[in-house]
Amino acid sequence: DDIRVISEGMVKIPQSTNIFYNPTQEFNRDMSIVVLHTFLKSESKSDATILEAMSASGIRAIRYAKEVPGIAKVIANDYSESAVETIKKNAESNQVGDLVQPSFADASCKMYELRNAATVVDIDPYGTPTPFLDAAVQCVQEDGLLMVTATDMAVLAGGNHADSCFAKYGSMSLKSKACHEIALRIVIHTVQSSANRYGRVAIPLLSLSVDFYVRMCFKIIRSPKKTKQSALNTSMIYQCTGCKSITLQPLAVVKKGHTTFAQGPLVSRKCEICDAVHHVAGPIWSGPIHNKDFVSKMIHEVNDRYSYLGTYERIKGMLGLVQEEIDSPLYYEVSELCSIVKASSIPLIQFRSAIMNLGYQVSLTHAEPNTIKTNIPNSSLWDILRAW
Ligand code: SAM
Repeated sequence: DDIRVISEGMVKIPQSTNIFYNPTQEFNRDMSIVVLHTFLKSESKSDATILEAMSASGIRAIRYAKEVPGIAKVIANDYSESAVETIKKNAESNQVGDLVQPSFADASCKMYELRNAATVVDIDPYGTPTPFLDAAVQCVQEDGLLMVTATDMAVLAGGNHADSCFAKYGSMSLKSKACHEIALRIVIHTVQSSANRYGRVAIPLLSLSVDFYVRMCFKIIRSPKKTKQSALNTSMIYQCTGCKSITLQPLAVVKKGHTTFAQGPLVSRKCEICDAVHHVAGPIWSGPIHNKDFVSKMIHEVNDRYSYLGTYERIKGMLGLVQEEIDSPLYYEVSELCSIVKASSIPLIQFRSAIMNLGYQVSLTHAEPNTIKTNIPNSSLWDILRAW
């Protein structure tokens, strides 16, 4: 028989008709290899134990074992018996049968069994990761790494299923040009609330919106004290129904050195720009979504040892954009703003210089082309648009 062979990175596995393999997730796996290596190296962790809680063919776990140094064991878990048999065969044929330990269990049961025992946990479910988060944040050791994929973008991005989004994530999604970053920030909010429940804090290292999914990587630390800072980094979103201006309402602010609740800047019910009413959504994580120091280290590692990756160029391009992103949450599509004031379309580059000339920051985002992130107040942004 003609058996097709899948080749990714340094690994080859036979294609199987009954085990899930998604070729378009190669980028996700390549990027995760770079994240994993950069993390283990920068945290000086050797003899790491990795748990891939939902492994399917095992390709991801096998690639971690083969392509990342310093790993003692990769537990490749799945609740499908045939997947576990396939993982075993694939690990052996790729000469990592000693490093990859196949495991047949429900992902949550496995993670509770390994509470505080995994250096790294990777969650890659069909759809939403939320049923697994409470177990995952506890399975990761102190100062370990948690990687999470969510593919239910229909729920997370755009407001068509805001009710399902609230049920799954405890947050309302929103129809908005910035929906991809909103999706990331909703999932981060949900991961954070799971972590905080157990006295832990999830520090975002890298948060990506790619194709039809989002992928986030967190360092998990233990700090009951720092869990109290989450409200400072969590906001409701107000989006004007008229001019689409976005205003964030943090759930807490620091005043005179003290965290004050429910006393942040008040958002009037009417838009200050055009007097229309707002849609409200969230809560979302409004703190930083990447750690720039970590991203720089990743760029160094990609150039240094990962030029063989199938998606090498895309990784470099995306990390370059991520490194330039300013921390201000969300973004505007310039052509949408122009059409609201009925102005002819302002070239992105000129709009950017107009903002910078007023002394504010501006950048692109990896999450959406032709949009800008900026920390300019809405009123000054609209002054620029009206004066055009
Ligand atoms: N990580 C794989 C990769 O990179 O190729 C793909 C994983 S696939 C999207 C999801 C897998 O999770 C399936 O193989 C499915 O059997 C498994 N799964 C779903 N729910 C599970 C659960 N509760 N416990 C364990 N495995 C589960």
